[in-house]
Amino acid sequence: MSDVVAAIPRDRRSIDRCIYCGATDGQLTDEHIIPEALGGTARLVRASCKDCQTKTARAESVLGPLMEPLRRLAGIEGKKKRKSTVRLKGIDPAGRHYSQDVSPDEIGLLAVFPQLGEPPRLLTKRNRTETFDIDFIPLFNPSKLGRKHSVGSFMNIGPLPFARMIAKICHAQAHASLGNTFESFLTPLIRESDDYWPDFVGSSIEPLPIGEGSPFVSVSIYRMSGRHQGLLLGRVCLFQDLGGPTYDVALGRELGSQIQSLQGQSVED
Ligand SMILES: [Zn+2]
Repeated sequence: MSDVVAAIPRDRRSIDRCIYCGATDGQLTDEHIIPEALGGTARLVRASCKDCQTKTARAESVLGPLMEPLRRLAGIEGKKKRKSTVRLKGIDPAGRHYSQDVSPDEIGLLAVFPQLGEPPRLLTKRNRTETFDIDFIPLFNPSKLGRKHSVGSFMNIGPLPFARMIAKICHAQAHASLGNTFESFLTPLIRESDDYWPDFVGSSIEPLPIGEGSPFVSVSIYRMSGRHQGLLLGRVCLFQDLGGPTYDVALGRELGSQIQSLQGQSVED
């Protein structure tokens, strides 16, 4: 399959309206394209209203604990300066709860990411009634020290907040790259008015050159060709060096393209 052509270059710009709901009044805050917790530094200036910020922060906060060992190992500071150790909590063989501070070097299983099953359904045209399995992608510590401890508490991450965060990264990057020349399909998902993510977020469709981003997360926006002409694809790679996952996002359409607008589409189960 070769429905993807050139990557669109990145460009930081001042937005002066909320990229999620379009609000231009009220207080607008700067919006990180990749969350700070994932090492992102590029931001869109005056690009999120208070209400939307609350919603995007909610999806990101779910990911905090998941990212903790990875962040520490990679030396990502995040918003607050933290200790260099990670607090492991668990239940020992005798059934007692314990909590222990360990160095991230010593943790074997660093994180478990959801594998979102299949490419975005907007691309494959699969029906919402067709079910799929969600597997998990474990990221192991390459260090020998990593055999000392294991983390079992990261399996609880739900695919919905995760898909929301991936969608948010692509949506924000598309605004940086394309400005007002596209229509995003992702705002209902990001703004919590739609919970059905498999239409938009999924696993990768084919290998592509890696985009830019933080050293740990990369995001690229692609213009599709062939039968998906006019459609925009976002790709997010997480912790590539450690064998982390790659996600594809059917994020929107270029204005003036033949792809049908999704605005006002009814949501059916
Ligand atoms: Zn807003």
